[in-house]
Amino acid sequence: MRFKDLSRLKRPEPLTIKLGSLPQHILMAAYAREKAFKINELVGVIFEESFEWYGFTLANNDHPELIVDIGLPKNDLNLPDYTTLGSERIDEFQESLPENLIINGWIHSHGALNYKHFSHTDEENQHTVLDFVATRTRKPLAKKEIRIQDLVLLEKGRFVEKDLSKGSVSLITNGPITEAKIMETVYGSFCYSIVIGDEGWHEQEIHYKERGILSGHTTVRSKAADIKFVDTGRHLTELDISILSDEVKEKIKPHTDPPPELIERM
Ligand SMILES: [Zn+2]
Repeated sequence: MRFKDLSRLKRPEPLTIKLGSLPQHILMAAYAREKAFKINELVGVIFEESFEWYGFTLANNDHPELIVDIGLPKNDLNLPDYTTLGSERIDEFQESLPENLIINGWIHSHGALNYKHFSHTDEENQHTVLDFVATRTRKPLAKKEIRIQDLVLLEKGRFVEKDLSKGSVSLITNGPITEAKIMETVYGSFCYSIVIGDEGWHEQEIHYKERGILSGHTTVRSKAADIKFVDTGRHLTELDISILSDEVKEKIKPHTDPPPELIERM
């Protein structure tokens, strides 16, 4: 006998029940946008030169999708074309935040550079941020069936050790059963990534991580995303700008004589 159509031999898709979803575009308060570009402006005024810098996008615990503020951590090293970011710095910064705020991504500036995209170094920094942010933006996305080949069903108190050597997974129940479906929760997390420039341009991505709690099956992906600006009623005041100006002086460390290996890494 010949099979006319091999696709008919495909196994049916595993049962999946949707529980939630991850953001498809970035939501950002107008205040956060004003603040980000104000930092660019202040860097230029204070240091009389443009530097790359990075900060974190912040959200309220109860609405992780909306960027309500920009947090400026102590930058380790700011060059005209390079900025470093380490996981200790992220941790340190999260610890300094009020309890209701979480980091939901990062933002950095390419200053006056005409490079309006994410660089290779940015991609590396991105992994560091996603790993950190993922635990905080995590939510259940689906219950998904795990297909187990050679599942062995055993009854509590009614099997011997040798029965455990059979099959790939043993399910021990307190009553006789003949069939079982195993469903795992697939958790998903996201992390925003925004790059801006002195001229007012911005480009952004959303990074996603999904993981099956039992299978450990993990996928990481990213996509270019739009930003939808939201007016939360808060705007940058003169007082905010004065405080921000002090922060920029304190936290951004221009390095005018960088080691050459750092320059090459850009
Ligand atoms: Zn960059």
